[in-house]
Amino acid sequence: MSFTPKQETVLHCDVAVVGGGPAGLRAAEVAALGGARVIVFEQNPSVGRKFLVAGKGGLNLTHEASVDDFAMHYSVAGLDLIQVQGLWRALLEGFDPKALRLWAGSLGIETFSASSGRVYPKEMKSAPLLRRWVERLRCLGVEFRMRQRWTGLRTREKLQLEFCGTSDEATGCVVEAGAAVLALGGASWPQTGSTGIWSDILTKLGVEVAPLEASNCGWECEWPQEVLERCEGKPLKNVRVSAGKACVRGELLVTRYGMEGGALYALGAALRALPQPTLIVDFKPDSSAESLLARLGSARRNFLSEAAMRWRLGETLTCFLTGLLKDSPPESADAMVQAVKHCEIRLGKSRPVAEAISTAGGVSFGELDETLMVRRLPGVFVAGEMLAWDAPTGGYLLQGCFSTGTCAGEAACRWTTNR
Ligand SMILES: Cc1cc2nc3c(=O)[nH]c(=O)nc-3n(C[C@H](O)[C@H](O)[C@H](O)COP(=O)(O)OP(=O)(O)OC[C@H]3O[C@@H](n4cnc5c(N)ncnc54)[C@H](O)[C@@H]3O)c2cc1C
Repeated sequence: MSFTPKQETVLHCDVAVVGGGPAGLRAAEVAALGGARVIVFEQNPSVGRKFLVAGKGGLNLTHEASVDDFAMHYSVAGLDLIQVQGLWRALLEGFDPKALRLWAGSLGIETFSASSGRVYPKEMKSAPLLRRWVERLRCLGVEFRMRQRWTGLRTREKLQLEFCGTSDEATGCVVEAGAAVLALGGASWPQTGSTGIWSDILTKLGVEVAPLEASNCGWECEWPQEVLERCEGKPLKNVRVSAGKACVRGELLVTRYGMEGGALYALGAALRALPQPTLIVDFKPDSSAESLLARLGSARRNFLSEAAMRWRLGETLTCFLTGLLKDSPPESADAMVQAVKHCEIRLGKSRPVAEAISTAGGVSFGELDETLMVRRLPGVFVAGEMLAWDAPTGGYLLQGCFSTGTCAGEAACRWTTNR
């Protein structure tokens, strides 16, 4: 990679943060609080575009679970459960859900915890929080360089990062920094700037990057016409769904192309690991098979309509099962119980990563030390969704970005000030 700046400016700082999402902004904040001179580089004209999108349907900032419960919601390719929990406990202890709520409060953003344990700002939106956060960063002396796309990195002698301008007016630049935090996000919703193109740059530098895949996303499957006509867009609530050994309770939603819903999102990692992704759905998780059978006991025919009445299946589920079982209606009470307690749904592909809420894959944790520094690139730290962790919706994603941003920002500050 050639580093001959043409007319580009050469800048100097202690910590260069690349990517103006929540992970990068948090890293910039803690590094600046630690006394470092920080510049944030962002390819968009403004920071936090995906963070703003996340606030559209109600910004789920974190979850009120304890650190131990929280850590159980993360998965990391190549690490077993004990290792993942150890890793995440340490990361969360550096900036835990309580600290995140206090931090939001210090910006004048009050939060509340819903009955599900999910934590939201009272106003539900991200814009007021982002505005005050950027103001605070400016007060701390953080400089912002917008419309700068990171294109390369050199660690020989000095750490140098190269940027090209993303508009006619913006010329590129080279920055010489004591340390850098890369927080370039995943590859979902590329219109917000998270394109995942950084993956090629790091791979060329010898860093292992696991393929970027869709997570917290819909899956494709073919529905009988009757199911689509009567159930599209309607939630199947309070179902227990399993994929392989993983099992969750939540909601599924029939869509034109297949399925969406919180329960499906939570099973993403398990589904991706299966050669033939298949869901087993229990539509009556609070009733045992025996009790259902007893309640259907006297029925001799029309098992589905009898079950709909006696088991109170509800309109959406009854329509769903009617469409699904049209060609092979249950011919016994046992078969009816099986259809409701152990319904097998074979899925096709996951929806494209561009549509997903988040991205699995990214910079492998095997490349990093415990401060999130890339071992083969001394002084370069990584934070946020570009790391190869995965988590369901529920506030775990943003909390993960804030916690890794805190860790990387503090470590980058220590690295540059101790040299
Ligand atoms: C529709 C939607 C709703 C969501 N809702 C929630 C929610 O309620 N709760 C929750 O926990 N999570 C939610 N998420 C996920 C959450 O928004 C992300 O996990 C989080 O924004 C990731 O933060 P990040 O800082 O790692 O990356 P990003 O927010 O993706 O930021 C990365 C930044 O890096 C910049 N960048 C990329 N490449 C370059 C480059 N080469 N040079 C310079 N800059 C570059 C990008 O422009 C971008 O601004 C939602 C996501 C979506 C899409």
